[in-house]
Amino acid sequence: MALDPNSLALSPPFEEKPHRILIVDDQIFNINALKTIIQHKFGVDPGICDHCLNGEEAYAQIKKDYASRLKLEKCFSYTLILMDCNMPFMDGFECTKKIRNFYFKKRGLGVKQQPIISAVTGHAEPKYINKCFDYGMNQVLSKPID
Ligand SMILES: [Mg+2]
Repeated sequence: MALDPNSLALSPPFEEKPHRILIVDDQIFNINALKTIIQHKFGVDPGICDHCLNGEEAYAQIKKDYASRLKLEKCFSYTLILMDCNMPFMDGFECTKKIRNFYFKKRGLGVKQQPIISAVTGHAEPKYINKCFDYGMNQVLSKPID
């Protein structure tokens, strides 16, 4: 499925450019493709992107980021998380659910106060898209490369 660059909406709920972006995908090729799109379509410096290769790594990164910001008002650096759904060890659904619960338990933050989590997937079936929302993702983007 080809990516419609316009579907990579940064607003709403984005009103400003993201501070940091976390890209989670088990294929480094997809990570690099997303960085290229972010840079060329939105003029965002890819240097603000970190990446993880599965949900387990991403969840650990979120907790580490939180620990480094304990004394700061905003308890996360990542304003946008691009989340692949199918990954080994922990998939994007489970990871999203864990991230949502983490910020809720730690700071009582509802989904709207948390980072935007966009699913990035090759699946376009309504059932699959609804599953993304059920697990706490904000939006679903088509995979740049299949
Ligand atoms: Mg994958």
